[in-house]
Amino acid sequence: MSRPQRVTVLGATGSIGLSTLDVIGRHPDRYEVFALTGFSRVAELLELCQVHRPQVAVVPDEPAAVTLRQGLAAAGLATEVLLGEAGLCAVAAAPEVDAVMAAIVGAAGLAPTLAAVHAGKKVLLANKEALVMSGALFMAAVRASGAVLLPIDSEHNAIFQCLPADYARGLAPIGVRRILLTASGGPFREWPAERLADVTPEQACAHPNWSMGRKISVDSASMMNKGLELIEACWLFDARPDQVEVVVHPQSVIHSLVDYIDGSVLAQLGNPDMRTPIANALAWPQRIDSGVAPLDLFALARLDFQAPAPERFPCLRLAVEAARVGGSAPAVLNAANEVAVAAFLERRIRFTEIPSIIEQVLAQQPATALDSLEAVMAADARAREGANQWLTHQGR
Ligand code: NDP
Ligand code: MG
Repeated sequence: MSRPQRVTVLGATGSIGLSTLDVIGRHPDRYEVFALTGFSRVAELLELCQVHRPQVAVVPDEPAAVTLRQGLAAAGLATEVLLGEAGLCAVAAAPEVDAVMAAIVGAAGLAPTLAAVHAGKKVLLANKEALVMSGALFMAAVRASGAVLLPIDSEHNAIFQCLPADYARGLAPIGVRRILLTASGGPFREWPAERLADVTPEQACAHPNWSMGRKISVDSASMMNKGLELIEACWLFDARPDQVEVVVHPQSVIHSLVDYIDGSVLAQLGNPDMRTPIANALAWPQRIDSGVAPLDLFALARLDFQAPAPERFPCLRLAVEAARVGGSAPAVLNAANEVAVAAFLERRIRFTEIPSIIEQVLAQQPATALDSLEAVMAADARAREGANQWLTHQGR
């Protein structure tokens, strides 16, 4: 076999980062870690460096670098430490790197993910916000550089597995009628709407099936996650919003389905564990062991499906509207959501105020075309400003 693939893990200290390193650690003959990046969890990043011995580690600023360098020296490691966004972009695009796991949360991941795309890497995309913000530019960059874009989001990885290899030419030529995007419905699927105003961050982050970072956990509870995923699916699979249908499936075992015009419906099933899509993308087009237990259909016994309830989950409606409007609307939706979710996690606003902020910011900022990265970042900044003004105005 050829030499091991060298992998950069952006967001190594997070939930997806740790699952990625778990899979990589099972296959030392196939993969070696080139770079690991962290943000606030520097002690955890040091521990990961001791296990995976990367050539480079990236932290946000000089104080974090001093702490990490001291720990690395004490452990006898020669890992180079780089800083900030420039450091993230450097390890994403480094010539030594074969594959980049893009697992930073939120808009902060856009620049390094695009750096990996421009450098023509194999890009494993978990950071859905990057694609939602800059969809047209992002996909144009993938086509121009020849980067191989592989979806990590479990639903999109499932759809990817259910489509033929030439899906990039659009859905109609390959006979696809619809994409069916499954959603667990989150922890509040069956809660009465009037109780949602009193939801706490702890309740929102206690997902019934998946263990994830706090931001995506809140997005799952509000169903904004499914809205972002619908936009993500449109870009990845060249689909219109009306070709993607959300199906609530509480067991999270069918990760999504593709409905073909001859009546065939293909689905991908598995235990809800992100190591499956991560292993699928890492090894694609081959298959490797992920450490995930085999699916026990007899223990499962049943699979349920429901239509989503848009009146209880206004974030989903707002995201579908932004997908239809296009231009800057998805970037504005995403940025306003990031500010609102952070404020909710800090207990400054109620759970039900998350969609109120997003709706107001979208209404105030009519969509414009986004023809450059500068235009994307300007739309993102304006939306954050609008959301922060709402918070100030309400005295939060
Ligand atoms: P986590 O919050 O667990 O991890 C986020 C990672 O990003 C951490 O390594 C964190 O560093 C780093 N980070 C945070 N802010 C910054 C910043 N400003 N600059 C640089 N790095 C930063 O999130 P998840 O792993 O759950 O999610 C990561 C991405 O994957 C998200 O986009 C999410 O939507 C997507 N995703 C996640 C799934 C899951 O099951 N968790 C499923 C599908 C998609 P530190 O921890 O050191 O602060
Ligand atoms: Mg998902």
